[in-house]
Amino acid sequence: MSRRRQQTRDRLLQDRAAALKASADPAVRPLPPPSPRLQSPSDQGLTIEQAAYRIRVQIFELSRSVGNALAAKELEQSTDVGALASSAARVSVYADQMIATVTDRYKPALDCREGCSYCCRKPGVLASVPELLRILHHIDSNFDPIARAALVQRAQAYALQMQGRDVNAPTKETVPCPLLVNERCSVYKVRPLVCRGYNSTSVEACRTAHDTGKGLVPIFALNKDVSDGATVGLEQQVTVLGWNDAMLDLGRSLNIALSASISDIEDATQTSGSLFAPSENKTWADELLTAVTKRAREFGIDSQTAPPPPAGSHPQ
Ligand code: SF4
Repeated sequence: MSRRRQQTRDRLLQDRAAALKASADPAVRPLPPPSPRLQSPSDQGLTIEQAAYRIRVQIFELSRSVGNALAAKELEQSTDVGALASSAARVSVYADQMIATVTDRYKPALDCREGCSYCCRKPGVLASVPELLRILHHIDSNFDPIARAALVQRAQAYALQMQGRDVNAPTKETVPCPLLVNERCSVYKVRPLVCRGYNSTSVEACRTAHDTGKGLVPIFALNKDVSDGATVGLEQQVTVLGWNDAMLDLGRSLNIALSASISDIEDATQTSGSLFAPSENKTWADELLTAVTKRAREFGIDSQTAPPPPAGSHPQ
């Protein structure tokens, strides 16, 4: 077993032990309300920021452990391509439920509306290999030859537009996801986790970011924490199995997969650096986990301690 797989497996075992003691651990209990008489304004600000980030870490870690457990359950019997796609389906059901629970609880003022597609018009949307397989299966089952041929053209256009460029570099250009049709996602039911969690509280900021390639889009972070955590959990299970755990630039990987043979795609699900190499991002999940852990430490939060799931939010 490779060192990285061993480390991931060890970490998952630690997570499970931590989850067992989580409900009794003061580290995951809500902070007491700040006392205005005992704290300066800056201390109060820090306390509020810490409390907010603690919730974010809890949601992220919960989603990571649930995403991992669901993927492990799906893949315990079989690790063929179909089971990999099913693992993505299971995790996305959880993510949808959790995002609905969190949104219902906090009622963020989201500006996202059907038919608004600024976020689908920038490059670099990432999907895991199980998610790409699920999308490909959906395309095979639901797209007629005309729709498929149009998709192939859009994927080629995307790859051509991004040729030799860093997909993460800001750009003023519109670079539509090949799956965007008439301002709507043509694979909405099977879209990647990152698309499920992405959101905006200001369509004006989306427009500015799209038109100028500059500016930050304010988001409701907890929804993204759900999808980020679930994606990392799914990816960690793929790592433990020793399959291709790279994240893929969706547009480029689609362009590759739509003209590849089934056997080549199957090979690429097991080995990184082959068919999907031009679209692979091998560090996203590890970097995200490291960043969350580091920020949590700065706030004095034990991010290794998975919290108990909120009532009614645990998947079936
Ligand atoms: S997969 Fe769908 S939701 Fe995601 S970027 Fe593409 S069109 Fe948009």
